Amino acid sequence: MSARENILKVAIPAPLRTTFDYLPPDNQAKIAVGSRVQVPFGRRQSVGVVLGYAADSKIAPDKLKRVKTVLDAQALLPKGLLELLQWTASYYHHPIGEAIQTALPVLLRRDYPAEVKKELAWALTDTGREIDAADLKRVPLQARLIEALGKGDAMGAAELGEISRGWRTAMRQLEQKGLVSVSSHEKKLSITVQRDTPPELNAAQQAAIEKIQSTGEGFSCCLLHGITGSGKTEVYLRLVQPVLEAGKQVLILVPEIGLTPQLIERFRRRFPVPITALHSGLSDSERLAVWLHAREGQTTIVLGTRSAVFTPFAKLGLIVVDEEHDASFKQQDGMRYHARDVAVMRANREHIPIVLGSATPSLESLKQATEGRYQMVELPERASAASLPDIELLDMKRLAVNDGLSHPLVQAIRARLVKKEQSLLFLNRRGFSPVLMCHDCGWVAPCKRCDARLTLHRGSGRLRCHHCGADQAQPTVCPECDSENLQPLGEGTERIEQALTHLFPDANIVRIDRDTTRRKGALEQKLNSVHTGEADILVGTQMLAKGHDFPGITLVGIINADQGLYSYDFRAPELMLQQVMQVSGRAGRADKPGQVLIQTWHPDNPVFLALENHDFNGFAKQELAARKNAAYPPYSYFAMLRAEATAAGEALNFLRMAESLGGAIAATNVEVLSPVPSPMERRAGRYRAQLLVLCNSRPPLHQFLDYWLDLIEKEKQAKRVRWSLDVDPMDLY
Ligand code: ADP
Ligand code: ZN
Ligand code: ZN
Repeated sequence: MSARENILKVAIPAPLRTTFDYLPPDNQAKIAVGSRVQVPFGRRQSVGVVLGYAADSKIAPDKLKRVKTVLDAQALLPKGLLELLQWTASYYHHPIGEAIQTALPVLLRRDYPAEVKKELAWALTDTGREIDAADLKRVPLQARLIEALGKGDAMGAAELGEISRGWRTAMRQLEQKGLVSVSSHEKKLSITVQRDTPPELNAAQQAAIEKIQSTGEGFSCCLLHGITGSGKTEVYLRLVQPVLEAGKQVLILVPEIGLTPQLIERFRRRFPVPITALHSGLSDSERLAVWLHAREGQTTIVLGTRSAVFTPFAKLGLIVVDEEHDASFKQQDGMRYHARDVAVMRANREHIPIVLGSATPSLESLKQATEGRYQMVELPERASAASLPDIELLDMKRLAVNDGLSHPLVQAIRARLVKKEQSLLFLNRRGFSPVLMCHDCGWVAPCKRCDARLTLHRGSGRLRCHHCGADQAQPTVCPECDSENLQPLGEGTERIEQALTHLFPDANIVRIDRDTTRRKGALEQKLNSVHTGEADILVGTQMLAKGHDFPGITLVGIINADQGLYSYDFRAPELMLQQVMQVSGRAGRADKPGQVLIQTWHPDNPVFLALENHDFNGFAKQELAARKNAAYPPYSYFAMLRAEATAAGEALNFLRMAESLGGAIAATNVEVLSPVPSPMERRAGRYRAQLLVLCNSRPPLHQFLDYWLDLIEKEKQAKRVRWSLDVDPMDLY
C-alpha cells in the first residue's frame, strides 16, 4: 500500500453488490488483505473482510467511519481463495460480502478467534501417582478417577464423562488436593489404523490412470465416465496416492455426505493420514477446526459437499468431484453457485488437476469433453465379476396393477424372497398417495397456500404439502359434500410399503425416505439392515439412488418411471435417465446377476430404449444434438430472474419492468424473454414469476447482467418484491 492508500475496501455481508469504505483504526499500522475487521455498519456492528486499499473514496472524508477492531493479525483467507470468491461473486452476480460469508464457518462470521478450540485434559501429578486409590475409599468417585488416570494418558472431558456424570466436582477436589493437574491442548487428528490392500487394477483402470496422469503438471480436467461398479473410486484412490506422497492435499466433493460413509471409510483405510469429512452433523467448533486444519495443511484429505469447494488449503494438489452430474452441487438459494463449476475454476486458478467422475455425466461436461477442453476417460465395464443387470420394461397398459405394483414385479419379488435375496423398489414420491379425492363430488384436498395438492400420510393420519410444509388432519368426510367416500389416488412409498406388507407378511420391509429417516441415526441403522442382509425388501426415494453399494440386492424395481416424462423442463429426459441408471446400478454388484424391472406406460420412449441397451453414450449424443438444434444449454447460456410477492401480479409487474429495462440495453445476441408466472405460481402464499435471459456466448451475457442488475437495483419496485438472479439455472421452476 502506498502512503496515500489508506482507505480500506471491506466486504460486508449485505445485499449490495459493492464493497464498503472505512478508515483504519488510529493506531493500526497495517491490516492484511483477507483479514476480518469489525466495523460500524448502519445501526449495528458487522464483521467484514478487507479486500484491498484505495487512495480515495466516493464518501466525503468527514463521513468515513473507522474500523473498530481488527480481528485477525494475519490474513484469515488465503489470497487464492479470496480471488476465487471474488470470481464466484462476479460470475453469479452476487454481493462479495455474502459470497465470503458462504465460505466462512459460522463462528468466523462473528468476532470469534480463528483458533482451534483447545481441549482440557486431566492427568495425575507426581503426588497423585504415588497415592493408593484405597486411601480414598471414603470418596469412591475420586478413587475411581485416580484409578482411571493411573492407567496412563491424560483424559479429556468426553472420556471422563463416561466414568460418571458427576466427575467434575470430584476432579476439582482432586485438583485442590494437588493429586491432579489440568492442561489444555489441541485435539489430535485421528488416523484409522486398519489398512486395506489395494486390488490389482484391471486394464481399463490402468489405462484410465495413465491417461489422467499423462496430462502432467498444472491444470487439466478429466471426465471419468465409468459405469456403475466400474471401479471409479479405486481410480480416485490411485490418483490421490502420489499427491499425498508429494506432500500435497486433496479435496473430494460428493453430493451428499450422509449417503457416502462407505466412500469415506475406503479413503480412511487406504491412507494413514488425517482425513476429514465435512458434513452437517459437525458442531460449529468442529467445523471451524476442519477449516483451520485444512488451511494449515494438517488435514490432508477433505471430503465434503457443495460448500467444501471453498475450504482453504495450504497446498492443494488435486480435486475430485464424484457424481459430477448430481443436481445437489447447485446451490438453490443465496448465491446460486454450482460447486462443480467453481471447482473446475479453482483447479484452473491453482494450476492443479481435477477429475470429474460419473456413471452418467452431465451433458455440460460431455460437451466440454467432445470439444477437447476436458479429457474423456472411460471405464466401460464392471470391475468385479458382476455383469450389468438385465433391464426389462413392463408395459403397464397391458398389466394388472394393484397399489402400483404390477403382477410380474410382484412375482419377481416373491422369487427373490424364496432365494433369500434382496429387492429394491424405487419410487420418487414419499407419503401414502399424492391425492386424496372425493369419489362423489370430485373434490381433491388442495393446499391453501400453494397451487398444489396435499399428500396423504396415512400412517400419521395427516395431509401435508410437500412444497410449503402445511400440515392438517386427514378429514373423515368430504368438506364439500359430506360424503365418506374419500379415496387416495396414486402411490407414494408409504403405500407401496403397506401393499408389500399385505403381500409378504413374513418379509422384513425397510422404507427409506425423508419421513422414515428424520431421527438421527435412523438412516444409518436402516442402511445397515440392508448390508447385514436382515432387510428383505427395500422401498425408497432418490435417497437410495446415490453411491450405495448393496451387494445383496439382485432385483431393482422402478415403480413409476414416467414421472419425468411429463415435465416441461428440457432437462427432464437427462435427469430421468441419470436417476434410473443410478438406481439400476445398485443391482447385482456381487457374484449374483441383477435384474431391473421398469414399470412404464410409455415403453417406446427413446429414454427407455437407451436404458434397455445400457446405451448412455448413444442417448447423450442424441440429446446433445437435440439441445444444439433447439439452442438450449449447453449450446447456449441461460440466466433466470425470479421474483415473488404476496400480492397477485406484483412479481410479474416487477419482471415486466425488468424486461423493459433489459430490452433497452441488450446487445443483439442477448435475448430477454417475456416474464411468465412460474409453473407452480403460488407457493407458501407467495405468487412467483420468472424471466429468462439467454445468449449464445457467455461474455456478452455477463456484461448485460451486470449493467441490467445495476438498473434494476435502482428501481423502487425492486424493494417491494423478493427477487434473485440464477446464472446457469439447473431447473426452470
Ligand atoms: P464405482 O465407484 O465405479 O461405482 P467402485 O470403485 O466402488 O466402483 O468399485 C465397485 C466394486 O468393484 C467395489 O466392490 C470394488 O472394491 C471393486 N473393485 C474395484 N476395482 C477393482 C479391481 N481392480 N479388482 C477387483 N475389484 C475391484
Ligand atoms: Zn365430495
Ligand atoms: Zn403448500
